[in-house]
Amino acid sequence: MKKFKYNLTTVIFISLLLGFFVGMIFHYGIPSCYVRDTIFIDGLFYILGNGFIRAMQMLVVPLVLCSIICGTMSMGDTRKMGRIGGTTLVFYLLTTVLAITIALVIGNIINPGVDLDMQAIRTAETQTVKGETSFVQTILDIIPLNPFEAMATGNMLQVIVFALIVGGLLAYLGEKTTGLAKLAEQGNTLMMSMTTLVMKAAPIGVFCLIARTFANIGFEGFAPMLKYMGAVLLALAIQCFGVYGLMLKLLSGLNPIRFINKFLPVMGFAFSTATSNATIPLSIGTLKRKIGVSEEISSFTIPLGATINMDGTAIMQGVAVVFVAQAYSIDLSMTDYLTVIATATMASIGTAGVPSVGLVMLSMVFTSVGLPVEGIAMIIGIDRILDMARTTVNITGDAICTTIVAKMNGKFDKNIFLNKG
Ligand code: ASP
Repeated sequence: MKKFKYNLTTVIFISLLLGFFVGMIFHYGIPSCYVRDTIFIDGLFYILGNGFIRAMQMLVVPLVLCSIICGTMSMGDTRKMGRIGGTTLVFYLLTTVLAITIALVIGNIINPGVDLDMQAIRTAETQTVKGETSFVQTILDIIPLNPFEAMATGNMLQVIVFALIVGGLLAYLGEKTTGLAKLAEQGNTLMMSMTTLVMKAAPIGVFCLIARTFANIGFEGFAPMLKYMGAVLLALAIQCFGVYGLMLKLLSGLNPIRFINKFLPVMGFAFSTATSNATIPLSIGTLKRKIGVSEEISSFTIPLGATINMDGTAIMQGVAVVFVAQAYSIDLSMTDYLTVIATATMASIGTAGVPSVGLVMLSMVFTSVGLPVEGIAMIIGIDRILDMARTTVNITGDAICTTIVAKMNGKFDKNIFLNKG
């Protein structure tokens, strides 16, 4: 078991690097032709990469359903569950507000959009950004009209709400529903072992995803946007290693470097897939086996975080606001900045954990302060790379908050955390 875990970390990172090199060779070394474009980039790489993401996504709904039911059941006490939920929500909101604030500050220090040669920016795709989602609707949508529909369409918040109620009631009904309780427990075991099985394909999936991304983009795609990208990446790094590191150290006394070391395979996975949702099973498993967080907590907080806590996305949105405002020479007031903090926090709640949604939600943030929505077109071309980086921060934020909450509630096994491997 130990050997497998060690290998997975190493192998995922070797695949990432190999994918990068092969992608670059494809972009610069091989001229566009049928074999390169159709057979490899849009054939083999696309099928194996996306096939892997689909296989992970296949696990999400049944796993979240079973594991939340089991978690709530074993917790039994609904008041305790409420307190854990409340603390988690506060952490999620605070880290998001902090993330956007950092992004706005970094944006104003680096000034990515000042002196921008707008002509130099050619967007790779001319995609139109769809309209905004109303906040009231986002709140109402938490209650499922039909739980089966929620599961079929993968509406995570609704699945979470339904599973919490089922788990709470199964605990309350006790003997009368032992059959169903057992079913949920066995379902959970089954889904966890299916996760391990699918993860065996991770090296190939990760390699293909990264190779395809870089084969398509190369370097010149993002040269004019380097300052913007640098600002986003810097803010992401501050959030990930500074804010999260400090939070973990101060609130739980745990060593952040050890944490990141153990959590690296999950971060590598999120980076290559740019999908928080697909990362849920691996994150819950790693937190349990390597960090020592009880599944009672993580089964609830990780899917919740993957759905509503998007610190990395909020950072991209904060920097994008400053970037586009500067590029269009629009002055933002203090009130505008506060509005951005509020709307980006709401956007983070409404952003689904799948690729590129953060970009769609950006229209809501832009509209709130009167920035031109066409400005988004400037950043579409290079967004995939930032999407990978921000998704990594999104899921790391969920895991850090989860670990702190678990530690506070005595659901943390320090021996596992201190174990090597
Ligand atoms: N790809 C991000 C995620 O899954 C969402 C986004 O920012 O587009 O967490």
